Amino acid sequence: MGQTSSAEAFRPLVAALTGAGVSTDSGLRDYRGPQGLWRDDPANQRLVTIDSYLADPEIRARSWQLRLRTGVLQVQPNAAHRAFAAYERTGLPLRVLTQNVDGLHQLGGVSPRKVLELHGTARRTECTRCHARGDMAEALDRVRAGEADPPCTVCGGVLKSATVYFGEHLNPQVLGEARAIAAACDVLLAVGTTLQVHPAAGLVDVALAGGARVIVVNADPTPYDSVAAEVIREPIGTSVPALLRRLAKEADVEWPESPGAPE
Ligand SMILES: [Zn+2]
Repeated sequence: MGQTSSAEAFRPLVAALTGAGVSTDSGLRDYRGPQGLWRDDPANQRLVTIDSYLADPEIRARSWQLRLRTGVLQVQPNAAHRAFAAYERTGLPLRVLTQNVDGLHQLGGVSPRKVLELHGTARRTECTRCHARGDMAEALDRVRAGEADPPCTVCGGVLKSATVYFGEHLNPQVLGEARAIAAACDVLLAVGTTLQVHPAAGLVDVALAGGARVIVVNADPTPYDSVAAEVIREPIGTSVPALLRRLAKEADVEWPESPGAPE
């Protein structure tokens, strides 16, 4: 006896490629994109460029102050993040490939092992010398206590956010895993990303080559709109929950009740 009946609906592997637009409703601004912080002050780009960060203690001190002010550790997941978590609770296969460094998919309830952070995480620190990792919250406590540029507690090296800076390469292992997921998925959702930079754009190409159905959810046009099966322009906070419910329904699966938090 098989465990599944032949009448059971197809269970597609959904891969969600997410960008800054998913976190906008949480009040986060994109560091790297065209709406990034250097729209206010172009000099801010040096704060996330690895060479200037390593060379200049003044740049590092400004970076730490900026991290304190932007409060990346205080932001909360929004309706779109919670909808991905609800979709995972249906039991349908889901992977999230995110360009965001805010950790909000995991905070919103998606299992950490289902999330690939293409650009790293702002919730951790990384030593540029010995690569030891630590909690960003602890480093920020040291800044509040008076250390302008807190060094690595293991080796004394320069500490940075565990994110990919300009001039750094993406983690090849993470990128390889992301490509494998894009190649294997049945549905690729590109949400809140302009798809104008790699690796995001390349992952859509990989998914298309693998025969995936591509659905673009973004406020502005993307270079992939013409090859997408569907393009959604409505606000992410409402369109993503609606889209995920529709995909669950297509797979003949019940949408789970929210555990407490309003959807
Ligand atoms: Zn170190």
